[in-house]
Amino acid sequence: MGHVFGRSNAQLPSAVRGEGCYIHDASGRAYLDGSGGAAVSCLGHSDPDVRAAIHAQLDQLAFAHTGFFTSEPAESLAELLIEHAPAGIDRVYLLSGGSEAVEAAIKLARQYFLETGEPQRHRVIARRQSYHGNTLGALAAGGNAWRREKYAPLLVETSHIAPCYEYRLRAEGESAEAYGLRAADELEAEIQRLGPETVMAFIAEPVVGATAGAVPAVEGYFKRIREICDRHGVLLILDEVMCGMGRTGTLFACEQDGISPDIVTIAKGLGAGYMPIGAMLCTAKIYTAIAEGSGAFQHGHTYHGHPLAAAAGRAVLTGILGRNLLPQVRARGEVLQAALTEALGQHPHVGDIRGRGLFRGIELVADRDGKTPFNPALKINAKVKRFAMDEGLICYPAGGTLDGQRGDHVLLAPPFIISEEQIGELVGKLSRAIDRALDGAIAA
Ligand code: PLP
Repeated sequence: MGHVFGRSNAQLPSAVRGEGCYIHDASGRAYLDGSGGAAVSCLGHSDPDVRAAIHAQLDQLAFAHTGFFTSEPAESLAELLIEHAPAGIDRVYLLSGGSEAVEAAIKLARQYFLETGEPQRHRVIARRQSYHGNTLGALAAGGNAWRREKYAPLLVETSHIAPCYEYRLRAEGESAEAYGLRAADELEAEIQRLGPETVMAFIAEPVVGATAGAVPAVEGYFKRIREICDRHGVLLILDEVMCGMGRTGTLFACEQDGISPDIVTIAKGLGAGYMPIGAMLCTAKIYTAIAEGSGAFQHGHTYHGHPLAAAAGRAVLTGILGRNLLPQVRARGEVLQAALTEALGQHPHVGDIRGRGLFRGIELVADRDGKTPFNPALKINAKVKRFAMDEGLICYPAGGTLDGQRGDHVLLAPPFIISEEQIGELVGKLSRAIDRALDGAIAA
């Protein structure tokens, strides 16, 4: 042990077994999975149907290169996704994860404009406090300053407008509706500044995940965004890698915003941790422009459309839909929000508790009235994560403030099968972890 090069130099426990909502380590300790890693394990860790589907596919066919073959699991997964996708979405491109899906979305947007005679369109507009992946194209799109910093010279120039972040950016006395329109209008201004004829796409997470801890937009924001994109012929890419696949209580998060994108990316919950898989979905308009133009999307990876991964994705999606888990996500989400509010709503260092479905965020602040963030040097969210592990709870330290520093948010995204009793366990362990992290930090 010890030669694996990971994202942390800390000594991590070795995970050996997953069962329902728990992961067990080599020493026999059990950890309640309060965040699904980072919103991955939507069906829990030992789903018999997904395991059986993977075994059955493995007995038939593990791999066939997509340059030569399509496959039944890939085709049937795509069909099922399209049946339940937002209006107008018609084609699916299967990949191996979220960053790949975002890269493909950006390249598809570019090729679409080449095929339709607008080669000058190449600019992407995104939002600050966003995360779209760690490969260079996706990292360039993301607006998380500290993740970008080291690689800045390698990133293509991208414009970043403010996110829709009611807790921090709605002005005193401003209605949520007026704030949503004002926030969306930043996109209009940025398109005008860059020159509408040069702008290719706007990319956003409908509910912001890794950088801000489950921040949904206010009502009306995305409708205005859709109108602005349409007015200027700009493609709307929604990144639902984290918030999609039922996490917020509807299969696609954007259903709750009442809009459809031109391109949407999904990943984490699609494979639910059983297989690495992601997907990029697009409208018939985009697909047809390419199919009837040059003939093919100039892209591809060795493992895209992988039959085993597709079989897992199909079993996960069938599980979410067939077991009617979406209403359960909505109901348990309300239970989680209420339990968090009861336990932490009056806490002097909890500024906001928010989210949709089983996708919830807690923002920790030094001062509740002034919403002052903690000094990043205190590393509060890293401490919460560590003390939570000590309590036997996995929670995700989402972090990123508006000025690009690491912020202190806790992201919760438990499996859709979490029971009410386990929600109580989660909130109890989290409350203790937060207090332990703050005790040490504030005393220091
Ligand atoms: N997009 C969003 C919204 C994400 O949250 C993530 C990962 O956290 C990604 C893209 C990148 O996905 P992956 O880590 O599978 O490459």
